[in-house]
Amino acid sequence: MIPVSNVYIYSEPRCGFVDFQEVTGFVRGYTPGAVVKLRGPLLEGAIRRGGTEPGEAGHTLQSRLALLLAKAKVKVMESPVPVGQSPLPGEVDYERRRLADTNKTVFGILYDAYLLSAIYRRLLDGGETGMGYVHVVFTNQLIGTWDEGDRRYHARSVLLGSPSIVSLSGMVEAPARATGYYLARRSAEAMGLAEEKKMELARSFDDDCLEHDDERMTEVAKGYAMQPVAYRLTGEVFCEDPDCRLFNAHWQRELLRAQTGEGEDFCSMHREILCQ
Ligand SMILES: [Zn+2]
Repeated sequence: MIPVSNVYIYSEPRCGFVDFQEVTGFVRGYTPGAVVKLRGPLLEGAIRRGGTEPGEAGHTLQSRLALLLAKAKVKVMESPVPVGQSPLPGEVDYERRRLADTNKTVFGILYDAYLLSAIYRRLLDGGETGMGYVHVVFTNQLIGTWDEGDRRYHARSVLLGSPSIVSLSGMVEAPARATGYYLARRSAEAMGLAEEKKMELARSFDDDCLEHDDERMTEVAKGYAMQPVAYRLTGEVFCEDPDCRLFNAHWQRELLRAQTGEGEDFCSMHREILCQ
């Protein structure tokens, strides 16, 4: 087991529904012996501190990041993002405006999770990248990973890496809703209903689901913030127990059961590991 000495959590300023202090307190409670700190937003914090990237004289960090983010955008779901993808000037401008405005929320744009993690990694302090350090970056951006098996991108709630990323949009969008929801949505589309009516009809066939402005976001975020910590400690991704917060939920009902269900936060095996 690799001991974790420091956990740094980076907040997302564009989500007023998540109490990041509470999430950090939860992680601290299950990571005894480690320094667990809440930091501000990673990208916006680095931009605010200003300066230029080494070797990138003439480019502000904001411009550089806007270009890298636009390059990490998934434009075709059935094709991996090409190496050195050239974004359109309008796409770079869009990212620049988004970085400058922390009230601007983005839904619907998918970013390659590994490319995004590589962008974030450039901003970490070089002295904080050892195996004992766990960095968890919360973002509103939707992240996806390329699946060689079925040759397409899949949206993800979490990417375990250095740093790890927890996507708040991913918690809402990645785990599937009830089958009835999609059937009703397709029927509503065939009927040519207005968007609002379509959503209304589809939701009436849905199970309980997490929404973007859901008051349960903080509770769900706690479990996802722990996944990178548990991964570093055990080397294992996710848990088989559907009542454990480390369960890999493929459905919304599974996510809500694991993160907001009654009983203990973690299965007995993970409780033992995490409370050491
Ligand atoms: Zn477990």
